[in-house]
Amino acid sequence: MIQLPSSLLPIIKTLLDKGLRPVVVGGFVRDAILGLPSKDIDIELFGIKDLEALETLLAPFGKVNVVGKSFGVVKLQLDAIEVDFSIPRTEQKVAQGHKGFDVILDGSLSFKKAASRRDFTFNAMGYDLSSKELLDPFNGQKDLRERRLAFVDAETFVEDPLRLYRAVQFAARFDLQPTEALITLARKMVAEKMLEELPKERVFEEFKKLLLKSRRPSQGFRVLDIFGMLPYFPELLALQGVPQDPIYHPEGDVWTHTLMVVDVMSRLHSDDKEENLYLSLAALCHDLGKSNTTKKIDGRIRAIGHENTGVPLTEYFLERLSDEKALVEKILPLVKHHLKPMQFYKQGAKAAAIRRLANQVNISELVLLAKADYLGRTTLEARSGEFEAGVWLIQRAKELSVMQKPLPALLQGRDLVRAGLTPSKQFKVILDAAYEAQMDALFSTKEEALLWLKQYINEVY
Ligand code: ATP
Ligand code: MG
Repeated sequence: MIQLPSSLLPIIKTLLDKGLRPVVVGGFVRDAILGLPSKDIDIELFGIKDLEALETLLAPFGKVNVVGKSFGVVKLQLDAIEVDFSIPRTEQKVAQGHKGFDVILDGSLSFKKAASRRDFTFNAMGYDLSSKELLDPFNGQKDLRERRLAFVDAETFVEDPLRLYRAVQFAARFDLQPTEALITLARKMVAEKMLEELPKERVFEEFKKLLLKSRRPSQGFRVLDIFGMLPYFPELLALQGVPQDPIYHPEGDVWTHTLMVVDVMSRLHSDDKEENLYLSLAALCHDLGKSNTTKKIDGRIRAIGHENTGVPLTEYFLERLSDEKALVEKILPLVKHHLKPMQFYKQGAKAAAIRRLANQVNISELVLLAKADYLGRTTLEARSGEFEAGVWLIQRAKELSVMQKPLPALLQGRDLVRAGLTPSKQFKVILDAAYEAQMDALFSTKEEALLWLKQYINEVY
């Protein structure tokens, strides 16, 4: 059932020969049962005496690194793979905060006892490499089969509130429904403000898994809502109940639409994880502005200017989620311009407008966002899976060589110096005017650009 990389086998054999009981634990077992690829391997070693003994045993096989002394974890680097070996342990919360745990390492623990510190039943399974059997003391396999998200133990679960965010992403990744008991417990933890002690980086890591590793992140956002965690994300909460014109959005309110768009975006992901992340966050934020612009005008529901009011809302939302400034900078222009592909297509926008758009945002990424927005609905057109406006804009942007980046400026400061001008603040004004002229196609070669410059200087100065 469990397929370990062949480079690990001699190590396992040595451990077994020494009478120890290595058990593969955690995500690797879960993923194997689900038939999913998994790269992190965690092995708990029953029967081991202490950390030193563990280190000594592993040292002949590769680079050994004690990562969590108090947690009894030793990392072994084997060519490209990294395996965490650990001593069975129990954990008990003794103080506030994510790190306030008292850890007891004990190689003689039973598997069930050691597994009881884990969060969810499907993460508390083990594969015993000596008996070659699945150890499943909390019925994780059954829960996976029946699509249930259940905690191992209510009393210990509350000791680490990050588990609620883990629940959110696991629900989305493995298409699971939280049990009533988990929902009740989660709401209680939220009501007791336990989530407020969490460092934002840890929460963001779970958001990343939610957006990058699941086919339908919407499931996680629904769990976030069911658990009562949405008030921590007021910009998202504000989308609930905001109506939309049923002709364009038969699916319902802005929240419903947003979740559909996030799901479509997951299907549009490439191999570029960084890009996937900001595209999915842009999908999540693209209509935040509808919460403060939606009005009935002449009997129809409109959200005029939402792409602009959505920009500061997106900024507030993202700043609370992450300190990664570069990420935010990628997302804001996508939100601001998300309507452009459709508008440009309908208007038959001119080359100059497309060049100017490329100056503000990466067109190929913008088209992905607009496509997700278009398909993330229940309209008839959305069912076709085609986004004609995007096909058109991509074609035009390619013809104009501005698909991935803006037009490079033909005139630079040094050209102005060569034309006899002395560097000054005025340079920026001239270069901006030159770039505008270039986007309007008043010139398209360096020679023409220099002629234009001559004329410009004569006229203006
Ligand atoms: P992923 O595929 O996201 O890496 P994973 O289950 O491997 O999923 P890790 O965060 O790598 O998750 O943790 C490995 C194992 O350690 C988990 O399967 C779980 O049993 C246990 N674990 C990790 N974090 C927690 C936690 N906060 N509370 C309880 N158990 C945890
Ligand atoms: Mg893992």
